Amino acid sequence: MNTMSDRSRSPTTLKVAIIGGGPAGLGAAIELSKRPFIEWTLYEKKPAISEISNGLTVQRNTWRMLEHMGVAQHIKADDFFRPTDGHHTQHRNGRTGELVATSLPPQGQAAPPHQEPCRMHRAKLQQALLKQIDQRRVITGKKLVDIIQLESKKIRITFQDGFIDEVDLLVGADGIRSVVRNFAFPDHHISYTGASSYRTLVRNSDAFNINGLPRAVIFWHGTEANWVYTCPLGGNDFEITARIKEPAGVDRFSWGREASVKHLIDTFADFCPPIQQLHGLVTNLQQFDYFAGPRLESVTRFGAVALIGDASHPLSGAFGAGAGFALEDGFVLGASIDWAVGAGGALEDALNLFDEVRSPHYRDLYGVLDVLAKSNSELSKLHLSPDEEIHSRIGNTWKPEHNWMYYYEVSCALPGFLKTYDTRDTDHMATSRLGTSG
Ligand SMILES: Cc1cc2nc3c(=O)[nH]c(=O)nc-3n(C[C@H](O)[C@H](O)[C@H](O)COP(=O)(O)OP(=O)(O)OC[C@H]3O[C@@H](n4cnc5c(N)ncnc54)[C@H](O)[C@@H]3O)c2cc1C
Repeated sequence: MNTMSDRSRSPTTLKVAIIGGGPAGLGAAIELSKRPFIEWTLYEKKPAISEISNGLTVQRNTWRMLEHMGVAQHIKADDFFRPTDGHHTQHRNGRTGELVATSLPPQGQAAPPHQEPCRMHRAKLQQALLKQIDQRRVITGKKLVDIIQLESKKIRITFQDGFIDEVDLLVGADGIRSVVRNFAFPDHHISYTGASSYRTLVRNSDAFNINGLPRAVIFWHGTEANWVYTCPLGGNDFEITARIKEPAGVDRFSWGREASVKHLIDTFADFCPPIQQLHGLVTNLQQFDYFAGPRLESVTRFGAVALIGDASHPLSGAFGAGAGFALEDGFVLGASIDWAVGAGGALEDALNLFDEVRSPHYRDLYGVLDVLAKSNSELSKLHLSPDEEIHSRIGNTWKPEHNWMYYYEVSCALPGFLKTYDTRDTDHMATSRLGTSG
């Protein structure tokens, strides 16, 4: 049987290429580094590992992964903002400033203080992840452009500069516009969701001078699900992010381009004075068009490709926990490989297990979005005043039962899957390939 190891011997070398140096790729690199038989290389198209945009919520599930990966030690208290009163998010009527609801953890699920959610600059998270890996294995300026599977089942990857590599396992961590996903699932497509995000930073010291702007994590809601999100970020940064519903008929990009500050100010002209004053501090603005696509039936392909992070679930930032999901993917991928090695299985078996753990998780996340879409569509049929619409939408959307993903413990879920696997007849295991780069 062609296996990743004989039970009596140490595992044969598994050659892995990780495409993309975002949270998913860096998290996978950390997890794969723990397995000495894995020879991994991370390829990133940008000239350096760098963040996309500014603020990011580190949810409880994200903290769990950061602690497990040894990354939390690189994050200092001044690197993030964590509310001192235990609230997660305030929901205010943006027109009046009235506090309508406060998100708290579900009963009995309060996090230990070091895992309470916080908001931090993405750059700090990226740098903390990077510190935990051997950076000599990270090759930047390498844009993947072509992928083929050879008869040997190995994957040949070609980069824009002509560089070629051949690997046993290709890990697609290349984000929402994943080239690896296009190769694995050519019929899958993403499209503009009809909403864009506008993001910028101002100085904490300026924002804190605004009367009526609490030092809190706040969604200021408007009509048509438009909102402004305000939050200190750690250091002297204060984040402003706005979601604006927009038509699809113009050229749309996934990530980052300069936008007009006037557009932000005009869209929220009916908002309360603190938001008007805050927008008055904005000197530059970046636009991120929300793209999303349907759920993939599987997050693995050809017994040699695994999709992780946004490449595996083009959810367009829904739930504000994509970095956490990405890190969970890396954790499960590493554990699945361990299991296959221990069970004398092949790489394909590891990927099947990875898929069995992660695909249902993403199915459930998409399920929450379906529920929200249905209730919001019903809401739009009612003839409500702007304030009634805002209050109803907050009530519909920000329910505790829609927050379970932040409390999901992947390390607890995994043993259940392993138990099922270990009691199965091992005849189901693949025998067709050796997980070796010999
Ligand atoms: C508006 C918005 C708000 C969000 N807020 C939060 C939040 O509060 N908390 C949270 O946890 N998540 C949040 N998310 C989600 C989070 O940003 C993503 O889920 C997370 O960045 C996914 O990480 P990733 O590594 O999969 O992808 P990315 O971060 O997109 O990284 C992909 C990497 O792959 C590289 N790459 C792409 N193509 C190639 C190629 N062909 N060759 C080589 N390299 C390539 C890119 O340059 C990039 O470095 C938000 C998302 C959006 C859109």
